[in-house]
Amino acid sequence: MEFVLRGGRVIDPRSGTDRIADVTIRSGAVVAVGPDLPTPEGGTVLDVTGLVVGPGFVDLHSHVHSVAGQRLQALDGVTTALDLEAGLMPIARAYADAAREGRPLNYGFSASWGMARAQAHLGIEPVAQFAAGLALLGDPAWQRSSSPGELRAWLSLLERDLADGALGIGVLVGYAPRSDPAEYLSVARLAASAGAPTFTHVRELVEADATTPIDGSEELVAASTETGAAMHHCHVNSTSRRHIDRVLGLLDRSRSAGSRVTVEAYPYGAGATGVGAYFLDPDRLPAWGIGPSNIVLVETGERIADAARLREVRAADPGAECVVEFLDEADPSDRDLLERSLAFPDAIVASDAMPVIWRGGVMESQEWPLPPGGRTHPRTAGTFARSLRLMVRERGVWTWLEAFRRCAYLPARVLDEVAPAARAKGHLGLGADADVVVLDPATISDTATYEDPTRPSVGVRHLFVAGTLVVRDGALQESARPGQAVRGEPR
Ligand SMILES: [Zn+2]
Repeated sequence: MEFVLRGGRVIDPRSGTDRIADVTIRSGAVVAVGPDLPTPEGGTVLDVTGLVVGPGFVDLHSHVHSVAGQRLQALDGVTTALDLEAGLMPIARAYADAAREGRPLNYGFSASWGMARAQAHLGIEPVAQFAAGLALLGDPAWQRSSSPGELRAWLSLLERDLADGALGIGVLVGYAPRSDPAEYLSVARLAASAGAPTFTHVRELVEADATTPIDGSEELVAASTETGAAMHHCHVNSTSRRHIDRVLGLLDRSRSAGSRVTVEAYPYGAGATGVGAYFLDPDRLPAWGIGPSNIVLVETGERIADAARLREVRAADPGAECVVEFLDEADPSDRDLLERSLAFPDAIVASDAMPVIWRGGVMESQEWPLPPGGRTHPRTAGTFARSLRLMVRERGVWTWLEAFRRCAYLPARVLDEVAPAARAKGHLGLGADADVVVLDPATISDTATYEDPTRPSVGVRHLFVAGTLVVRDGALQESARPGQAVRGEPR
């Protein structure tokens, strides 16, 4: 199938160009960009006058492993959705499951440090399911430091999954924040020798826990400097909270000194995780400046009444997904903190998209529109359109070129070393993968809210994944499952 996108404002963040041109797509690739391209025989011409045409967004942080969730991300401009912070194990099964089920968007996974530890410490056979990992997060036996034998065991599991195509190593050290920092350095060394990046949810900051073995953000920077590993700092907005300026200063000094540290953020004042997480212990919440009532269970909508109720749900269902309000979006100074994390030079937009859950724990639906009652964090459906609305349309902090650099180009570059296939993503040069978003620059916006979190974003007019239309004229194409695996090829 051949397409010509006629007369759009074409943005290519690799060449730094922003111009009116046509784009021709054939056999899953961009084959021509320029003025007045010929209309191919039997091809389809889409008039995109007045619209912005750019590389589809590459989301480094999506825990969505469903057609339902990926459809919301498609309407948010995402063409590649990767679970790199938590990862899945075993990686071979994760890729096989996605290929068998079919995906609207390109997909990929990191090797899961958490599941490797669970196997080494507890003998739990991982099943390549995100929900199974969430359920384990609160287990103290999983969180403790490893014996030398356990350390060897889980490092070799990570090595096996890197060899099987993982896109790096996902390190949830923030969920095992008393574990020995020497173990974290071992992970960084393994990553450096494999030519693979790490993706860290950092452990507690010193401001939140004076007894932490090491400040979480300092640890990442120091490990990258010491080992030379490419180390990605996940969601700096949520782990830094009101210490964002201190953490961004640290990252800035490290990057200026030549480290391979990268960083991502999303524009919401609440996070989402399993309610059994270490840092949601009722005794830990004051250090975050919040209380039990800042936690809302996703599936039921229950706002936690008090510490006793929080203890109860953590014991009964530690993997239950919950929304955690760590900044107040109604407070202008908190909103400024979120904006500064996005505005930080080279900060990457990444959603931390969460599974959509219906009553009874159902996590998938092939129906479109989604059946009513689906619950998730609004960042799942709205992160990219919300970032564009805030940073381009309302505040004018980013140009469109800069927006595409942060949503598509820079995230793909994080993967270049481990996955040569990523080099064809995040730009619109000749030969680029035909992962393309066409959006309306005047109307692009999120509509998902905490109350109604599965409302799709508006303004994405067309979306191609591997040369196939997943969104056409603003409508999701229900039969489209063109998503391809993005695999690592470590040294
Ligand atoms: Zn996280």
